[in-house]
Amino acid sequence: MQIIHYVTGPIQVNTYVVFDEESRKGFIVDPGGYDKRITDKINELGIDLQYIILTHGHGDHIGGIEGFRRDFPGIQVVANKYEDMLMDSRLNDSRSLFGRDIVVNVDKWVDDFDTMKIGNLELLFIYTPGHTKGGMCILVEGHLFSGDTLFRYSIGRTDFYGGSWPQLEKSIKTKLYTLPDDTVVLPGHMGFTTIGDEKKGNPFVR
Ligand SMILES: [Zn+2]
Repeated sequence: MQIIHYVTGPIQVNTYVVFDEESRKGFIVDPGGYDKRITDKINELGIDLQYIILTHGHGDHIGGIEGFRRDFPGIQVVANKYEDMLMDSRLNDSRSLFGRDIVVNVDKWVDDFDTMKIGNLELLFIYTPGHTKGGMCILVEGHLFSGDTLFRYSIGRTDFYGGSWPQLEKSIKTKLYTLPDDTVVLPGHMGFTTIGDEKKGNPFVR
């Protein structure tokens, strides 16, 4: 597995291009903004891009979908089945962020502990509500794409639509801190971390 990291969009979202080196099949996590250099890199590496996978529906994580759909016709968008803000530009804040309404047509709604095979990669979707109603993390080969649920020594806000601090705390404690300590955490903003480091040093959830 290879992971290429970009920072995209108006609020500096971590966008990841992930692919299986053997089959070349791959996916993008959270395209916050469109950047042609990402498309060029995907083409240069011969990646067969199959999915855009969203950790959640906030406007800053979805601004690039339209552009990548145009570059990769047939690509499918995957999100958690409770993320209703994707269909409502008022709830996902896209108007205030981009000055235009972004509504996402999701091709594949997934549920807690659903799995997906992309080439040789086995993905596990872990439902982690709290930052949003339909927030989820994606676990693949010891790497966790944690969206805005868990950051390096921080956590996502709970004061937006659908947010809940008790739910976020429960999601992190019961669903993420139970993963192996050496699980690499790749959040939706800022730096990378591990589950072990967060269990020891995260001041918000111990
Ligand atoms: Zn968010």
